[in-house]
Amino acid sequence: MTNKKKKNTKFLPTISCARSLDKADPLAHFRSKYHIPKINGKTCIYLCGNSLGLQPKSTKKHIRQELLDWKELGVEGHFHGKFPWFSYHHFVNKEAAKIVGAKPSEVVIMNSLTVNLHLMMVSFYRPTSKSYKILIEEHAFPSDKYAVASQAEHHGFKAKDAIVEIKARKGEVTLRTEDIIDKIKELGSELALVMIGGVNYYTGQFFDLEAITKAGHRAGAKVGFDLAHAAGNVPLKLHKWGVDFAVWCSYKYLNSGPGGTSGVFVNEKHGNNTKLHRFAGWWGNDEKSRFQMPDKFLAQKGAAGWQISNAQILPMAAHKAALELFAEAGMANLRKKSLLLTAFLEFLIEDINREAGEERYKILTPSEPASRGCQISIVAHRSGKETFNSLTERGIIADWREPDVIRVAPVPMYNSFMDVFAFAAILRQTNS
Ligand SMILES: *Cc1c(COP(=O)(O)O)cnc(C)c1O
Repeated sequence: MTNKKKKNTKFLPTISCARSLDKADPLAHFRSKYHIPKINGKTCIYLCGNSLGLQPKSTKKHIRQELLDWKELGVEGHFHGKFPWFSYHHFVNKEAAKIVGAKPSEVVIMNSLTVNLHLMMVSFYRPTSKSYKILIEEHAFPSDKYAVASQAEHHGFKAKDAIVEIKARKGEVTLRTEDIIDKIKELGSELALVMIGGVNYYTGQFFDLEAITKAGHRAGAKVGFDLAHAAGNVPLKLHKWGVDFAVWCSYKYLNSGPGGTSGVFVNEKHGNNTKLHRFAGWWGNDEKSRFQMPDKFLAQKGAAGWQISNAQILPMAAHKAALELFAEAGMANLRKKSLLLTAFLEFLIEDINREAGEERYKILTPSEPASRGCQISIVAHRSGKETFNSLTERGIIADWREPDVIRVAPVPMYNSFMDVFAFAAILRQTNS
């Protein structure tokens, strides 16, 4: 798969190739389990699951169940509902743990993403006058940049001293693992925390999280990842890699609805330490004594000990519905399809360039399959926004980033090879 030429020999830029790939796809039937939006009354080609995943048809049933229990049981639903609200996170953490490669006790579903990132930094960014720097990637998602900067400032440091951005080499777009590792070594004992987006939202680059974790630990730093664009997209082994913490949202690849709930991973080596500094609230208290309202907080073991407020049942019910479909499809099968689907997209874009005899669409995303998920980011050199608008007019929902980047994410759960083909066919006709 590493040889770029060899990789795509199985593809042809034809509709019959797309059709036969769909025919051979063992996950093709999952598409019918999702609502696909319409544009002007016509089913659209949705390639924006990296921004907001589609709604499973089963979501309604799961939310209705909670509305029903609330309607019929009132407060009794905490213990006597079909899925008692008192311990609702137990109905979602096991499947979520499989997706990120963790033990169920290392995962809790709660709050929203940036909030959880802050809560994790409360515990894992404990700077001293000598060790206070945070390493983050260039083009990190703005919310993450604001979060790390405000944490540094909260501890009395100047963000411009404390935050170190790893940049791509001149003339390159993505980061090299060796450069990240060298930067970690260079910062050495000054480095308190490495906090990187597991898959960069802009370029789609999937970083070598294991190598980064090892390097961070060698420098004596904590290592945490924002997996907003990684969870449900790429294979993750957080426990095995020894990552300290991670956070992710549920509304991108995990299809759990706008503003949906978020996931947190706390490595058990920290989770079992109930004395670890944290912001406490009653829901993180030991479940046995939680409703006895003890005066003093007694953290429960595991990631669940970081819960603060009582669980947001409706978004969590939506998450439960979405996770069932991941359990049914299996992450390994999804990844297998994803590799093929994304390679097909890449092949078609390269074919457009080949036909034009010039690089009409520059691909920013790494060509090495192990270094990316399903998203391909392209630069539309000539008239980016016009190209994007004409895609939208023609029934394609993708994603636009200023100044000239189009992000396209064929999601293996519900996108087809025909989706990718139709997108490329329209791209071929525009901007020419
Ligand atoms: C989507 C995304 C966010 C959004 O944060 P919310 O708190 O869910 O609004 C933050 N960081 C990254 C890396 C993202 O991709």
